[in-house]
Amino acid sequence: MDSAGFRLLNYHSHTPRCMHAKGTEEEYVRHALDSGYEAIGFADHTPWPYKSDFVAGMRMRASELDGYVAAVRAVERKYAGRIRVHLGLECEAFPEFYPWLREIREEKGIEYFILGNHYDTNDERNGQYFGRCSTPREAGRYADTTIAGMESGLFVYLAHPDLFLERYPRFDADAKRVCREICEAAKRLDLPLEYNLLGAWRNPRARELGCVGYTSREFWEIAAETGNRAIIGVDAHAPEALDRVDSVREAHELLQGLGIEILNELEEVERAK
Ligand SMILES: [Zn+2]
Ligand SMILES: [Zn+2]
Repeated sequence: MDSAGFRLLNYHSHTPRCMHAKGTEEEYVRHALDSGYEAIGFADHTPWPYKSDFVAGMRMRASELDGYVAAVRAVERKYAGRIRVHLGLECEAFPEFYPWLREIREEKGIEYFILGNHYDTNDERNGQYFGRCSTPREAGRYADTTIAGMESGLFVYLAHPDLFLERYPRFDADAKRVCREICEAAKRLDLPLEYNLLGAWRNPRARELGCVGYTSREFWEIAAETGNRAIIGVDAHAPEALDRVDSVREAHELLQGLGIEILNELEEVERAK
């Protein structure tokens, strides 16, 4: 740790099983190690036990879960003593599947779940993709389902809390209200919010398109007012994303400048090891 309290731990990395990431588990670990990370957590998009033969285009199939667990545990063993490797999953707030999540947590030894609320209620039944919200009603659904997810007690933090702003046209009173509701719920539940680096990298493009974009300064100003705690997540979809330590440092500075408390590590995950 340096004088500014800057440490590198990332709990949000994907694998190609989600069909929109690249690189082997080992490449992620090696890039993390070379960049000075103390710990890397894999939180690939969870599969769900769908009732139909629906196949989602952005997550592993249920039949791939065991291979994912084995691959992460294999790199954990191989790099033991050099970097801590954690096994997690990024999950939506799909209440009908929460019992299944609890089951796999026990059965497969999944260490943690992060809440990444991409779809409304269930993507099998065409739930709205929250990265395409453009109306107050859609943004309101994002707030309601996200808060219900946070209240489930299943998740260690909320990933990309302002995802609904990705294609939202302006930071108006409705957008502000949604951000405030999410921040207040996180504060009440003492749940950290993720400063999502992938969103920060994408934000200039969203602004070019005339949208607010996620990982927005506007959201974090509200989080600062509300007194939320932040954790920085790379949301790595390629091993090289872990090389971008300058971005982590910038995020640290931005959050510190806003007076936000930054968590370097998830204590409950680190302690369990
Ligand atoms: Zn996500
Ligand atoms: Zn992710």
